Amino acid sequence: MIRHLLSAADLDAATATFVLDTAREMDAAMSNREVKKLPTLRGRTVVNLFYEDSTRTRISFEAAAKRLSADVINFSAKGSSVSKGESLKDTALTLQAMGADAVVVRHPASGAPHRLAHWVNGSVLNAGDGTHEHPTQALLDAYTMRARLGRLAGLNVAIVGDVLHSRVARSNVLLLHTLGAKVTLVAPPTLLPVGVGAWPAETSYHLDAVLPDADVVMMLRVQRERMDQAYFPSAREYSRRYGLDAARMRRLPDHAIVMHPGPMNRGMEITPEVADSPRSTIVEQVANGVSVRMAVLYLLLGGKS
Ligand code: ASP
Repeated sequence: MIRHLLSAADLDAATATFVLDTAREMDAAMSNREVKKLPTLRGRTVVNLFYEDSTRTRISFEAAAKRLSADVINFSAKGSSVSKGESLKDTALTLQAMGADAVVVRHPASGAPHRLAHWVNGSVLNAGDGTHEHPTQALLDAYTMRARLGRLAGLNVAIVGDVLHSRVARSNVLLLHTLGAKVTLVAPPTLLPVGVGAWPAETSYHLDAVLPDADVVMMLRVQRERMDQAYFPSAREYSRRYGLDAARMRRLPDHAIVMHPGPMNRGMEITPEVADSPRSTIVEQVANGVSVRMAVLYLLLGGKS
């Protein structure tokens, strides 16, 4: 098993499938128990090191570690020495001195988890770094697709919207390609990254043309906080061309599902009617996130004493 999970590219097909299978076992083990806790990581310490806001991911990692009986330390940059200017390296050495077996890190700078991995002895899990990667999100998305549609190989997955700023999109493209799905990125030209031609994915500017063949449509949040200029004329114009509403949803095949990593801008990239429809897997994605993160923690830490 790998030591760190920094990128979805760290996972080959066999390892990724093993993580998904383990997550399914975790799910089954938990649903059969009255007390939702397994003793697997008793005595291990997991540190959640969050330099950027997060609701779902931080809570999900915390729940996953606690369900495996690990000790959990939550460290957020606000209210810590980080706000006094302590460097990532000094923080890492402090965590090291406290005997962290795993550090779950979210950071606004792309590549921060990779640096951290050089400074600590424990496993580093990337919980989102800048616009770069979010590998456990890709794993929980793959898990959700497989649970709903029964397979990943051969699926047509459309990832729609603000690809430029999305670590979710990048990690999903890498993982889905590894697992044999075909990804089409749908966005206005201004929201596609330079060099997207080298990604293992097709690109399209036309959502309506892509929908009839999609098994999965994954809507991305428009990340206004990362936008330093105008990438589209207006919110209304964006929604009209790239938002998913009920009329557009009807263009999908009957079995197709709608995903969103959250947090949603309801009314912008997705209408409430779509978000709350039976095709939507948004709440399942959150629930599956805990099982997938349990599997990752177990597989990264399980073998070590
Ligand atoms: N929650 C996801 C992330 O942290 C997606 C988003 O913020 O739009 O990357």
